Amino acid sequence: MKFKTLLFDVDDTLLDFQATEKKALQALFEEEEVTLTDEIEATYKQINSQLWREFEQGKTDKKTVTDTRFSLLFDQLNKTVDGKKMGERYRYHLSQGHDLLGNSKEIIERLKPDYDLYIVTNGVAKTQYQRLKDSNMTEFFNDIFVSEEVGYQKPMKEYFDYVFDRIPNFEHEKTMIIGDSLASDIQGGNLAKIQTLWLNPSKQPAHSEIQPTYEISRLDEIFTVLE
Ligand SMILES: [Mg+2]
Repeated sequence: MKFKTLLFDVDDTLLDFQATEKKALQALFEEEEVTLTDEIEATYKQINSQLWREFEQGKTDKKTVTDTRFSLLFDQLNKTVDGKKMGERYRYHLSQGHDLLGNSKEIIERLKPDYDLYIVTNGVAKTQYQRLKDSNMTEFFNDIFVSEEVGYQKPMKEYFDYVFDRIPNFEHEKTMIIGDSLASDIQGGNLAKIQTLWLNPSKQPAHSEIQPTYEISRLDEIFTVLE
C-alpha cells in the first residue's frame, strides 16, 4: 500500500468550522445584545485570521489570539469589552459546535480498517476534544495532537517532530497529511517531508511556493489518491 499513516486536520477538513463559528458568534452577540451584521462578522474573521496567521508564523502566542480578538473587534465598534472573558464565552459556544463537513465521518470509518489515523489540529485543546467527541469521531483515531498540548503548531517542523515521535513504527514515505490550509497543513507537510493532500473545495489557485503533492475538491476523492 502507498500509505500507512494518515494525518487529518479538523477544521474545514472533517468538521464544518464555518457553521460552528457562525453559531458561536451569534450566541455571543445575543448575550452582548449587539446585532451581528454581515459586516461585523467579516471584520471579526479578518481580525481572527490575521491573529492566527501571526500565531502560525510564531510571531504571537495562542493566548494573545484568544484574549484579544474580541477586544480588537469591539474597539472598532467603539465598545469596550473584557476581551479575555468574552474570548472564554466564545470558546464555550465554539466547543458546542460539531457539524460534520459533508460525509466526513463515513469516509473516516471506511479508512479506519486499512490505515492508522491521527488528528493534527491547531487550536484550543478543550474545544477541539469536545467537538471531536460530540461528533463521535474520537474512536476512529489512534491519537489526537492539538497544538496547545504539543507546544508547537502547524506548520512548524517541531510540531511534526513531536507527532512523529509518538507514532509507532513511523515511516515518512508512507505518511500523508490531509487539510484545507496551504499555510499550515500543506506547508507543514512539506517542511516535515511527508506527502500532502490539499482539500481545496473552492478551487483556489495554489501558491507558487507551497505545492501540495495531491489536490482534491471533495474529501471523498481521497480514495482515488490512496489507490
Ligand atoms: Mg483546517
